Amino acid sequence: MTDLHRLSIREMAEGLKSAQFSSRELTQHYLDRIAKLDDRVNSYVTVTPEYALAQADAADNLLKNGTAGTLAGVPLAHKDIFCTQGIKTSAGSRMLDNFISPYDATVVAKAKAAGLVTLGKVNMDEFAMGSTSESSFYGATKNPWNLEHVPGGSSGGSAAVVAADLAPFATGTDTGGSIRQPASFCGLTGLKPTYGRVSRFGMIAFASSLDQGGPMARSAEDCAFLMNTIAGHDAKDSTSINKEVDDYVANLNATAVKGLRIGIPKQYFNVQGLDAEVKARVEESLKTLENMGAILVEIDLNMTEAYVPTYYLIAPAEASSNLSRYDGVRYGYRCENPKDILDLHKRSRSEAFGAEVQRRILIGTYALSAGYYDAYYVKAQKVRRLIQQDFLTAFENVDVIAAPSAPTTAYKIGANLSPTEMYLGDIYTLAVNLAGLPAINAPVGFDKDSLPVGLQLIGNYWSESQLLSIVHQYQQNTDWHTKRAAIAEENA
Ligand code: GLN
Repeated sequence: MTDLHRLSIREMAEGLKSAQFSSRELTQHYLDRIAKLDDRVNSYVTVTPEYALAQADAADNLLKNGTAGTLAGVPLAHKDIFCTQGIKTSAGSRMLDNFISPYDATVVAKAKAAGLVTLGKVNMDEFAMGSTSESSFYGATKNPWNLEHVPGGSSGGSAAVVAADLAPFATGTDTGGSIRQPASFCGLTGLKPTYGRVSRFGMIAFASSLDQGGPMARSAEDCAFLMNTIAGHDAKDSTSINKEVDDYVANLNATAVKGLRIGIPKQYFNVQGLDAEVKARVEESLKTLENMGAILVEIDLNMTEAYVPTYYLIAPAEASSNLSRYDGVRYGYRCENPKDILDLHKRSRSEAFGAEVQRRILIGTYALSAGYYDAYYVKAQKVRRLIQQDFLTAFENVDVIAAPSAPTTAYKIGANLSPTEMYLGDIYTLAVNLAGLPAINAPVGFDKDSLPVGLQLIGNYWSESQLLSIVHQYQQNTDWHTKRAAIAEENA
């Protein structure tokens, strides 16, 4: 079969159960595609063929004796920020180019326990800092829709593998938009869960109060299958919440779109730099939802201007603290012939961290330093609370909030945005992390250059089921999520 990669996750799982094909065949099919096509996309940092085929054989055994779980034998790719025992975990950095984790991240362990097959580890911005995936030590990943454009970031590899059909779905992480923005740039569905829903154990830390893992896939249904696998309380993550997990697949039609109140923040649609075509596609998608019975309600989110400065103090502050562990001593990169311990720290860090990571460490260290802590860090924390309050007030009146996921479509590779230009591109995604809320990106069309546009729906705490359900029903009424990039149409 040459078109196994065109199946949805549900169809793959059913095909495996009914022995139309084996996990080994399905896995080999993806490995062949990766071998043939990934040179052009540069999405994998590490491909693990032997490991994948061994997992596939194990899944095939379970399938044969009838004890396989729902997703047993289905392949996936992990963002290279999730620790994988025995397989390199680089976080896109020279610092961890030699790092092999002695344990699995909880997300990885859960995927393994479900019988999912790991194809490999995929590219990302260094330590998840960025919006283009160009800051990776392993070079830029290409956008499957146009190989001269970026796939977004930081989970750019996760987006590119799915959009090029080099994996059926993938894990990503989102600290300030890194699931939603690459999903938007690559025409995919991506869910950033409520803070605390998915364990952060073994997920390399960027900004611990903002980081959250989640699924990236073609459809809401595919995301729901992965959420059913990875969500849940984990005693190994003290910020993980002990709350019952929904059955996201069973709930795909549970939310009534008829009568659903969708908030449209006035401020969001007047942002300078919002591309006219992005705005038009998002408005068309809202019209579709209105035709399906939703009620559009204009709302205010008055703190919009504070999102970028608040995030770009808090995230670097936490990063500077988290990344202090890379000292050239314990693990990771160590410089050659250090003169003394200070030289060891200094050169190891200067040689192994890229420019954006160094910039964040400097900003964060500055914001946390004794003389500036109150003026910057504490102030940012207070503004963070106001941003959260703004959303809670809005949710008294509406069920979900609509926004673009990004003000533009995918940038050209090498566009060389200044740091502030790049940071401003995160305007629509940052507040969700600052408030700890869930949000989803859904593909809603293309611009004149055939680059995908995404709609973001932001929900109240623990509304993952609702968000997936709304997008699922939208996807039953539209076909944007079924569109494939030319490279995905090529056969191995
Ligand atoms: N683009 C944002 C940043 O550079 C968000 C990154 C992320 O979510 N990991 O920090």
